[in-house]
Amino acid sequence: MISTTNQESNSCRCATQETVAVTCPHCNQNGNNVDSVTIKAQLKKEKRLSMHLDLNEFNFCSNPSCDTVYYSNDRSETFVQVDIKSKITVKNDDVKTPLCYCRKLLKERVIGMIENNEFNIAQKVKAIISDGKSFCEKSNPKGTCCTDDITSFLAEYGINFNENNKVKFSLKPNSYHLTSKRLRR
Ligand SMILES: [Zn+2]
Repeated sequence: MISTTNQESNSCRCATQETVAVTCPHCNQNGNNVDSVTIKAQLKKEKRLSMHLDLNEFNFCSNPSCDTVYYSNDRSETFVQVDIKSKITVKNDDVKTPLCYCRKLLKERVIGMIENNEFNIAQKVKAIISDGKSFCEKSNPKGTCCTDDITSFLAEYGINFNENNKVKFSLKPNSYHLTSKRLRR
């Protein structure tokens, strides 16, 4: 069998997160579980040294309007944006905020493409983020792939990140002739 190498992926195929039942103590929205590896890599050193709970007790709050980034399962301990080394894509409007942490693709680069009315922005972004190895579990404060956040970010500018998948080559026979043949019978 020929493998489906033409199947284009928008993702770097990193691990996905599971939604957790424990809600963020600040905004009360559902969060996602996050690996201890991520917390360890993302917390500023002084915060990591002074934290009370274990590294594997935390969840990520993805609510753009909530300043809380990580909160513990028992909701007693939280870390906010200033406690974290990286700027969070969905929580920070600064143009220096990364869209893809592994490739250091900043919002300003994509905004520049949009301002210059460049063609095929979705494809260009896709090419950038799929170039090389990913280490999202450490680089991205969410601990997972950046694809969802990039999709949302581009959608704000009316760009469909998946538009490439909809392009079809019209090598099929002219349907008019097929129809008329059928009618002639
Ligand atoms: Zn929150």
